[in-house]
Amino acid sequence: MKVAIMGAGLSGLACAITLEKNGIYPTIFEKRSQVGDRFVNGEAFLPALNRPINDCYAFLAEEHGIYLQPLSNIKKISLFSENNQASLHGHLGFLNVRGRDYDSLECQLSRQVKSEIIFNSEYTYENLLQDYTHIVVVTGDAAYTAKIQDFQQELTVTLRGVTVEGKFDNRHVGIWLNYSLAPQGYGYLLPFSEKEATITLGYPDYTHNQSLDIDSLWSQFFVRVCKDYKQEFRVTDKFEVTRYIMGICHNPRIGNTFFAGNCFGAMMPAFGFGQLPAILSGIYVAKDLCGLGHYEELVKPLRQSYKNSLAIRRVLESFDNHKLDTLVKVINSEVANKLIDSSRINLLKMLGFLLRPYLITGARNNLQKK
Ligand SMILES: Cc1cc2nc3c(=O)[nH]c(=O)nc-3n(C[C@H](O)[C@H](O)[C@H](O)COP(=O)(O)OP(=O)(O)OC[C@H]3O[C@@H](n4cnc5c(N)ncnc54)[C@H](O)[C@@H]3O)c2cc1C
Repeated sequence: MKVAIMGAGLSGLACAITLEKNGIYPTIFEKRSQVGDRFVNGEAFLPALNRPINDCYAFLAEEHGIYLQPLSNIKKISLFSENNQASLHGHLGFLNVRGRDYDSLECQLSRQVKSEIIFNSEYTYENLLQDYTHIVVVTGDAAYTAKIQDFQQELTVTLRGVTVEGKFDNRHVGIWLNYSLAPQGYGYLLPFSEKEATITLGYPDYTHNQSLDIDSLWSQFFVRVCKDYKQEFRVTDKFEVTRYIMGICHNPRIGNTFFAGNCFGAMMPAFGFGQLPAILSGIYVAKDLCGLGHYEELVKPLRQSYKNSLAIRRVLESFDNHKLDTLVKVINSEVANKLIDSSRINLLKMLGFLLRPYLITGARNNLQKK
């Protein structure tokens, strides 16, 4: 068996580590010059969206022998709508860094990989088909998957972010649900130390959003974040991601080609969380290749989470700022706090189920707007 992994990101590296544990040494092809060679940004794992996995770091170590360290654990989330504010407290998740940083998740994974990584790779899928018996497509970009098979693209997203210097509690996250600032999207502040944080604004590229002036939205959003944090942040770095695809592939496996990470459909459309599904799908490909399971079966729960997440996105998209204000008010209640902090409740599953009746109305409204 000769395995080629196309992409040394979260999914590809998790796949390689799992293969190696079972005696298979793949060749990894990475188009960039080193692992994580991209902008630095803070990202998060929120267990409320991943349950029954409560502590993804403990889970990956104990169940899969993959050892990662977070930057910090989240103890507080502040939610800001146009006119309301909510605070959630508890064991709410973990923060990590991505990209060109020694501690980024991809760099941590790459230090556990023994197989060869060919950097600056220009190999195409067709090239790899000639020389390898099995190919894992994990380029993090569904555009590639769509060339090979049917890919159900739901939306693309524009993201703009900055690194700022300021004073932060590195266990406190801020989220803005305000459609005047992020139409049908949201903004967030994730600290990655007590002095630095990533501030990001993201919204879908629907036709009615395409005339929006991102510079103007960004300035308003940034002013609002500074006001809510009562600080004047100093920008030290910037990034922009355009047309980031959210969708899911029709076939997780075609012949001896496997699609994992974002190439499978790891990005959860409601809030854009894709790290854990990306790592898990990479592990599941390896399990299949080692005769320890069937990839199509193993990814079924990820496909279900994707559907639940999409249902939530469609409902949220049908809201206006008034409804977001109400939502944030409800979330501020003791009961909502307990639900989110409870280790037994999968919020994605529960909301996906509860909100399904509203989905039809929401989808209809959205279609009319597009
Ligand atoms: C701004 C932003 C913020 C995010 N925030 C969060 C968050 O807070 N929480 C969360 O859970 N998720 C978040 N996500 C999503 C998460 O980062 C992704 O779902 C996850 O990284 C996908 O992993 P992957 O392995 O599929 O792709 P990646 O980790 O992106 O890896 C893909 C790799 O393939 C390489 N590659 C590309 N093309 C080729 C090619 N042709 N040949 C060889 N190599 C190639 C790339 O260079 C890269 O190294 C965020 C995404 C973005 C963009």
